[in-house]
Amino acid sequence: MIIKGGSVMDAPSQSGTPTILLHKGDLPADVTFTGSVAVDSETQGLDLNRDRLCVVQLSGGDGVCHLVQIAKGQAEAPNLKALMEDPAVVKIFHYARFDMAALKKGLGIDCGPVYCTKIASRLVRTYTDGHGLKDVVRELVGVDLDKQQQSSDWARDTLSPAQQGYAANDVLYLHRVRAQLDAMIAREGRQELLRACLDFLPTRVALDLAGWGEVDIFRH
Ligand code: MN
Repeated sequence: MIIKGGSVMDAPSQSGTPTILLHKGDLPADVTFTGSVAVDSETQGLDLNRDRLCVVQLSGGDGVCHLVQIAKGQAEAPNLKALMEDPAVVKIFHYARFDMAALKKGLGIDCGPVYCTKIASRLVRTYTDGHGLKDVVRELVGVDLDKQQQSSDWARDTLSPAQQGYAANDVLYLHRVRAQLDAMIAREGRQELLRACLDFLPTRVALDLAGWGEVDIFRH
């Protein structure tokens, strides 16, 4: 087990025991990712004008999860920003639209390039309405995620072991989900449609933050 930069706890998973590393304020400069990184965030609630960014979770798909706690009033995280804007590292989200907006609003970060497992799922798993992370991970990875801590106080100074485990679970399986979805997308020949949707995400986020959040501008 790797122990660095704070407390470590274990959470159950099918593929061994994940390592959780806690950081305050920013990702340490010596933490690097190659190729892609799975990212999620926790906020105080779902209204970006009211609810601040509290935690950013990152994993390289290797069973290690970095949890970065963002303080109240904090407006910058230079190492996190450099990673999230690094053109050589794909950021894998589930429902990127919300996390990208939260990172932009809270820390002035323009994420890119990005992959969204929810968009890919909607484009190819047309046999189901279940596109939540729990549904997707259960079907494509065979792991049953515990979502009990989803609604909890992410702004607290000390995250509980249950909160840490929940936060980690939201990024630990995204690499495997992406691989499964990419295979299905390729099988159905929808790579270009997926690419175009992912390329539009920054614009969708800009619309959300500028006041068109509840409006579908393509609608009749
Ligand atoms: Mn989450």
